[in-house]
Amino acid sequence: NLSDKLDKAFHILKGHGKITEVNVAETLKEVRRALLDADVNFKIAKDFTTKVKEKAIGQDVLTTLQPGQLLVKLVKDELTELMGGDVVGINLSGNPTVILMSGLQGSGKTTFSGKLANYLLTKKNKKPLLVACDIYRPAAIQQLYVVGDSIGVEVYSEPENKNPVEIAENAIKHAKANGFNVVIVDTAGRLAVDEEMMNEIERVHKAIQPHETLFVVDAMTGQDAVNTAKTFNERLNFDGVILTKLDGDTRGGAAISIKSVVNKPIKFVGTGEKMDAIDVFYPIRMAERILGMGDVVSLVERAQEQFDEDEARKIQKKIAKNEFGFDDFLSQIQQVKKMGNMKDLVGMIPGASKAMKDVEIEDDAFKHIEAIIHSMTPIERSKPALIDVKRKARIAKGSGTKIEQVNQLMKQFEQMSKMMKMMQGPGGKNLMKMMGG
Ligand code: GDP
Ligand code: MG
Repeated sequence: NLSDKLDKAFHILKGHGKITEVNVAETLKEVRRALLDADVNFKIAKDFTTKVKEKAIGQDVLTTLQPGQLLVKLVKDELTELMGGDVVGINLSGNPTVILMSGLQGSGKTTFSGKLANYLLTKKNKKPLLVACDIYRPAAIQQLYVVGDSIGVEVYSEPENKNPVEIAENAIKHAKANGFNVVIVDTAGRLAVDEEMMNEIERVHKAIQPHETLFVVDAMTGQDAVNTAKTFNERLNFDGVILTKLDGDTRGGAAISIKSVVNKPIKFVGTGEKMDAIDVFYPIRMAERILGMGDVVSLVERAQEQFDEDEARKIQKKIAKNEFGFDDFLSQIQQVKKMGNMKDLVGMIPGASKAMKDVEIEDDAFKHIEAIIHSMTPIERSKPALIDVKRKARIAKGSGTKIEQVNQLMKQFEQMSKMMKMMQGPGGKNLMKMMGG
């Protein structure tokens, strides 16, 4: 599913101590593939990754301590934005407030009408009336009665009348006369969009002038959902989208595409058949769900809190002047350590505990590195080039490590310095910008 795929994409970054623009590009390519697999429209997925890439470069992702995590956060923020950013509630003005349900048959209109009535009754202190305008199947009217009974909400119907416009108008009169302050009009839907159905709902819409016209769509229908949304929006200019059947393993891709294509907010989601399986749509939560990030968000927030910007700036200056040494390396390690216990951190990354099962994580993974650096003289720390074989042997002995471990650290340090220098070349605009150059 999408979460697994994105997990894999981000894994490309997690494994790397160093991040290059190539890494970022590769990861975003995977992100795009994952979005496409989840039925997100091609152009939307492409625009999305382009935008994230631009932001990543603008925000110096490459020069931060935890570039992978910052990229995860960028992707999440952008995804949240794509799905509407803020929560948009329903308009409850008007007395009574008239709400019209639209959508294909089986999308979940009748079920959602009940859920919404129940929500308004129990959470918003309203007195709702349910109206049966699906006059083609007697079973449909019956279904609304069952729903209404289960939540203690009155249902208005005229089984002998075959004109949904009249029924809806009469229901509003009935509501006014009997103190109902919300009227929820459930309508008929065909299996696919057809002219007759569209004309009918358009007539009802025009006659009752609803305060809220909601388009109900089955999240499991993927790309089709987008086309249906487009058609209904052209005819009804609806106010919001209800995404049903988001329970279980449903892909969230439709949410992204629909919002982008019709530019209407998703207002609620349905997450089950029961009357309380309704949730206000939070774009940020949906983004998290799509990314399958779980605790990663808080992890990233922690990283950002702990990341000492002044320290970073100081180090960037040293790199620029070719003065980056082991003392700076040590201070970077201390920054990372401030974020917490390595085992905890790894455990917070989805999929990482699986991937890391063969790797023994020490409680203090940096213990040896710190010991080695502490065994170096100040001169050695600031001029690592001085460290020859003889000095290495002394350092190993002093730190209680093996000479191979010293060699390994020297190699890591060399690679890191090389990468840092590279970032000051033509591809290092970010670094220069960060330094105010
Ligand atoms: P309508 O034809 O648009 O009125 O759709 P219904 O409300 O009759 O729903 C069609 C089917 O989908 C029914 O079996 C509902 O129980 C089911 N359904 C509706 N909403 C949800 C949901 O959020 N989750 C799940 N799992 N099933 C739902
Ligand atoms: Mg129905």
